[in-house]
Amino acid sequence: MSDGPDRSLLDKPLTVLPGISDKRQKLFSKLGVDRLADLLWLMPRAYEDWMERLPIGDLVPGQTATFQARVQTLPSLSRRGRLTYLRTRLSDDSGSLEAIWFNQAWVADRLQRGQTYLFRGKIDQAGRTKRTANPDFRPADRGGEADAYLPVYPLTAGLYQSNIRQAVRALLDRRDFQAEETLPASVRAWGKLAAADFALRRIHFPSCPRDVELARRRLAFEELFLVLFGLRALKSGRSKEEGPRMEVGSQTEKWLQGLIDRLPFQLTGSQTGVLQVILDDFRKQEPANRLIQGDVGSGKTLVAALAMATACKEGYQSVLMAPTTILAGQHARTLTGFLEGSGLSIGLLTGATPAAERRRILKGLKEQTIQILIGTHAVLEESVVFARLGCCVTDEQHRFGVRQRVSLTGRGQVVPHVLVMSATPIPRTLAMILYGDLDLSDIREMPKGRLAIKTYTATQADRPRIDGMIRRQLEEGGKVYIVCPVIEDSGELPLASAQAVHERLSQEVFPDWKVALMHGRLKAGEKAAVMEAFHAGEIHILVSTTVIEVGIDHPDASLLVVENAERFGLSQLHQLRGRVGRSDRQSYCLLVSDSQDPLVRERLRVLCRQGSGFDVADEDLRLRGPGDFFGVAQHGLPDFKVANLYQDTPLLHEAAAACDRILGEDPGLEKHENQVIMEAFRARYGERLARPGL
Ligand code: ADP
Ligand code: MG
Repeated sequence: MSDGPDRSLLDKPLTVLPGISDKRQKLFSKLGVDRLADLLWLMPRAYEDWMERLPIGDLVPGQTATFQARVQTLPSLSRRGRLTYLRTRLSDDSGSLEAIWFNQAWVADRLQRGQTYLFRGKIDQAGRTKRTANPDFRPADRGGEADAYLPVYPLTAGLYQSNIRQAVRALLDRRDFQAEETLPASVRAWGKLAAADFALRRIHFPSCPRDVELARRRLAFEELFLVLFGLRALKSGRSKEEGPRMEVGSQTEKWLQGLIDRLPFQLTGSQTGVLQVILDDFRKQEPANRLIQGDVGSGKTLVAALAMATACKEGYQSVLMAPTTILAGQHARTLTGFLEGSGLSIGLLTGATPAAERRRILKGLKEQTIQILIGTHAVLEESVVFARLGCCVTDEQHRFGVRQRVSLTGRGQVVPHVLVMSATPIPRTLAMILYGDLDLSDIREMPKGRLAIKTYTATQADRPRIDGMIRRQLEEGGKVYIVCPVIEDSGELPLASAQAVHERLSQEVFPDWKVALMHGRLKAGEKAAVMEAFHAGEIHILVSTTVIEVGIDHPDASLLVVENAERFGLSQLHQLRGRVGRSDRQSYCLLVSDSQDPLVRERLRVLCRQGSGFDVADEDLRLRGPGDFFGVAQHGLPDFKVANLYQDTPLLHEAAAACDRILGEDPGLEKHENQVIMEAFRARYGERLARPGL
């Protein structure tokens, strides 16, 4: 006899349940259900209500309803080809309707004339009579409490609701099944939460709507709580690691101020604030893990550069990793400018670096004659060895998952301070879930004198005006980006392709201006050539796909036209918009779309009225929900079965408060019940969230 629930039970395959053959198992597998645990967590998407019964006379076509009725005529079977029809007439005091079953001849044996049953089905109109096809039914005397609400699961071809219900029922009815309790009793009492076993049984087979509410609250809380708790516990565990502790005394601060004074502008309040926070990170023993969110152009790179320089002044080296070769080159140029006169030596390492230059850089890093390395993924290669790495910056531009952490960390004796810059601000609630293990800093203030980008919507009918607007920008010395959803015409979708737009503009509309084409299918060399010409100001109009989204900069860029704007997400459009407005020149963004879809129109309106990525992100979450939230897939959003990050915000805050309380009382997780939480976190989300080196 075992003295508790059998934990390994849920790891068993579905086939241990009665009625699950290998063939049926394969069907379940299509729903992602392989083990009993998956079945337990296959959440109903709705419930069938067998309690609320309507008189037949009140039924309307199109409705799915439950009604109690007498079988009035002997069910009659007819055949047409391979199809069988079983018909009968059902009635109550208020009226009658026809019931028909296709290819379910067995139903005839279950229905007796004159008897009363509960029926549930979709009502339609067949000629002059009301009808229901393939209704479910059960004897009226069994219509009591037990099966009042039946779960409705997602289906796949060949699998019926009854199959899934039976399987879930069989699991819940096993004597060795008991849901494991992951939440300490104190948390349950504090949050007024149902027990795990109750919640999981009732989410599948509730006896009233209140059951569903209680079960849902408990399960959603548990999901949010586990993730928050696990990430926070990881974070506090990391604080025991040995980081590069720096003094950053008054001498270094003075030196840093010298660099800042030499800049042609003043730092914004946000920049100064975040820089101070980073310097404080540097002074601590534990390695920092900080995410810096801020719109494109808010000056994140500058803050990172100053932080990197500080680390070098303190005797360490720094590395900056960019998502593309183009961006790495751009950063190298910018940082060289920012850090002019600092005496620091900067190296650039990408996949395109020639062998001799590469050797020189590797040697310089080992001997610490190079203090700052800028590069792409190439800096992660094993042959890249730093003498004394102290600060590691990732310019994420939402191309890397934040979690795809630099494997440089942990290669040396000390774990360097890690800063991640993201130009895709995400709402705080989402950040709590995704980055609960990171410290967060926002740069919300834009540099002074930056004019808001004027954003408008347009339709195909406005084409002459759009062309006119482009011409005006060109004549005033501005540069124009045109973004298209596809590279070439496909014939299937009526979308503006980059190739077609390029051809039209370069040959018909603006033959006297230089119009270039850029897309992901160009060879690296071709791309680099276009970029170089663009930087040199030789290209006036750049027609492109979303490749420009990853941070290509030109200060003169003053107009962005997005073709088929309905094809892009809200945050992505905002991201694209960040390509213009990079100087004190008034910039514009035109969103061209003929779509009448209300959601699309609303998205485009949001962009016209919101200029800040933080606000756009909130609206994006509101309109689309977290699952579709831009870039979230790359960030590794946990797969929540019950919780909804938009609707369950209050619950999220409750869960966060509970985490704080527990971790405050038991920071080392000495209590058994708190270790249980951590185990549950690892079992459920560990693979996605608890990466090593994090
Ligand atoms: P981000 O990395 O956030 O996109 P950058 O650091 O690249 O922003 O800065 C964008 C542009 O703004 C750069 O040309 C930079 O020189 C300039 N810049 C940065 N900070 C300021 C500031 N405080 N005032 C004026 N211009 C600034
Ligand atoms: Mg940047």
